[in-house]
Amino acid sequence: MPSADVVVIGAGLAGLTAAIAAAESGAHVVVLAKGHAATHWGPGGIDVAGIPAASTPRDGIRLLAGQPGHPYGFLGDDVAAALDWLRPHLADGGVDYVGDLDTPLQAVPTSIGGTRRAAILPAGQAAALSPWSPGERLVVCGIAGFKDFWPEAIAASLSRERIWQGGSRPASVTPISVALPGLAARHNLNALEIARRFDDPAWRATAIAALARALAAVPGSGGRVALPAVLGIRDHAAVLAAVQEHLPAAPFEMPLVPPSVPGMRLYAALRAALIRAGGRVQIGEMIERVERDGRRVTAVTAAAAARMYTVRTGALVLATGGIAGGGLVAERDGRLMEVVLGLPVEAPPVNEWLALDAFDPAGHPLEKAGIRTDTELRPVGADGVPVFDNVRVAGSLLAGQRYIGERCGDGVALSSGRRAARSLTAVPAGHAAKPGSKRP
Ligand SMILES: Cc1cc2nc3c(=O)[nH]c(=O)nc-3n(C[C@H](O)[C@H](O)[C@H](O)COP(=O)(O)OP(=O)(O)OC[C@H]3O[C@@H](n4cnc5c(N)ncnc54)[C@H](O)[C@@H]3O)c2cc1C
Repeated sequence: MPSADVVVIGAGLAGLTAAIAAAESGAHVVVLAKGHAATHWGPGGIDVAGIPAASTPRDGIRLLAGQPGHPYGFLGDDVAAALDWLRPHLADGGVDYVGDLDTPLQAVPTSIGGTRRAAILPAGQAAALSPWSPGERLVVCGIAGFKDFWPEAIAASLSRERIWQGGSRPASVTPISVALPGLAARHNLNALEIARRFDDPAWRATAIAALARALAAVPGSGGRVALPAVLGIRDHAAVLAAVQEHLPAAPFEMPLVPPSVPGMRLYAALRAALIRAGGRVQIGEMIERVERDGRRVTAVTAAAAARMYTVRTGALVLATGGIAGGGLVAERDGRLMEVVLGLPVEAPPVNEWLALDAFDPAGHPLEKAGIRTDTELRPVGADGVPVFDNVRVAGSLLAGQRYIGERCGDGVALSSGRRAARSLTAVPAGHAAKPGSKRP
C-alpha cells in the first residue's frame, strides 16, 4: 500500500500551496482531488483583500482581520511572506506576477465590460494596473470567429464613466476585430485552442503581424490594447514578450469565461513546483473513505478510475474548498456537511440560506460557512478543542470569510496552505528532520 507523510485533499491554490511547502521541507506528499479547482474558473490574479473600503491589499487585510471570526484575524500577518515565497515558484513555471500588498487597488477592465479591483496580477494582465494618463486610448481587440469576447459590447460598456468606480479611465475606447490565420471560419473556436496556436512560433509571428497591422490602422497612437486571455499556454512568457515588442500599444489580457487560460497557467506553474519539490498530484480521485485511530487520520481511500486507491498517511491537509469547491454540501434538513471527515461545520441559520437577491454585491450568506480551527489550523469542535491532531484545514473551507465577495480567497488560500504545511512538518528543537516522523 502506498504511503505518504502528508496527504493533501484538493488541488486548488490552498492545497497546492500546502503541498509544495510540505514537500520542500522533505515530506513525501501526495495530492488527491476529485477534479480541477477554482484556478480553472478564476481570472488568474491573486486576490488578497479587494473590498471596496480598502485602498491596498494590506489595508484590506487589516480591515478584514478586524471582523470577528475572519481567518485573517490569525493569518493576516502571514500573507506577505507567503506571497514572497510563492512568487519565484510561479516565475520558474513561466508566470510572473506584478504588484504587492502595497500596490493601490485599481479598477481593471473585464471582458464583460465592467471593472474589478485588483492589485496583484500576472504579467499578461499587468498593463491594466497603471492609472490612465490624460488622453490615453484603449483599443479592445477581438478575434474574428471567437464568440467568447465581444469587442463592440465591451467597448460600449467601458465607455461609460461609472464603470470605472471613480478612478481614472481611458479617453476613448475603440473596438476592433482581427482575422487570425486559419481561425475565422472555425466553428466553436475556444480560448484554449487559440492559446495553443499562439504557442506555435510560426503561427504566432503571422498572427502578431496581423494584430499589429490592424492596430496601426486605428486613429491615434500608443495607449493600451485589451486582448482576450489567449496569449499562449505552455509558452506564454514568449508570446507575451512578442506581443509587447511588436504591437504599437501596451497589451494586456482580459480573462474570459471558464475554462480560464490564465488560471490554467497558474495551475500548471503550481503543479510543476510541486513536482520539482518531489510531490505528486492525482486529479480524478474522489475521496471515499478515511481511516482513523483515535484523533489521528491514518489512511485515505479514493475511487480511482478502475479501483480503490488507499494511501497510508502521517498527516492530512483538507483543502476541499467551501460550498463552491465541493468541500461542503447542504442537506435539505438544514445541515451543512463536511464531506471527507464529517467535521463540525459553522454555518448561518437555515433561514438565511436562500438569498433574496441572487446578485447581491455583498455575496451569499452561506459563503461564510466553513470549518472553525485553532491558530495551527487544526479543526475544532464547538468547545474550541481540536477534533483531530494530525489534520489541518486550509483555503475556502475555513469559516468566517466571504472568499468571493471579499475577494480574499486567494490570500487566505496561500497563507493558510503554507501555515498548514509548516505546522505539520515543523521539527521540534533538538530533533533531526526525518520524513515519516512529523509533528502531529
Ligand atoms: C467560480 C469561482 C470564482 C471565484 N472567484 C474568486 C475571486 O474572484 N477572488 C477570490 O479571491 N476568490 C475567488 N474564488 C474563491 C477561490 O476558491 C479561492 O480564492 C482560492 O482559489 C482557494 O481555493 P481552495 O484551494 O481553497 O479551493 P478550490 O479552488 O475550490 O479547490 C477545491 C479542491 O478540492 C477538491 N475536492 C472537493 N471535494 C473533494 C472530495 N470529496 N474529494 C476529493 N477532492 C475534492 C476539488 O476538486 C478541488 O480540487 C472563487 C471561487 C469560485 C468557485
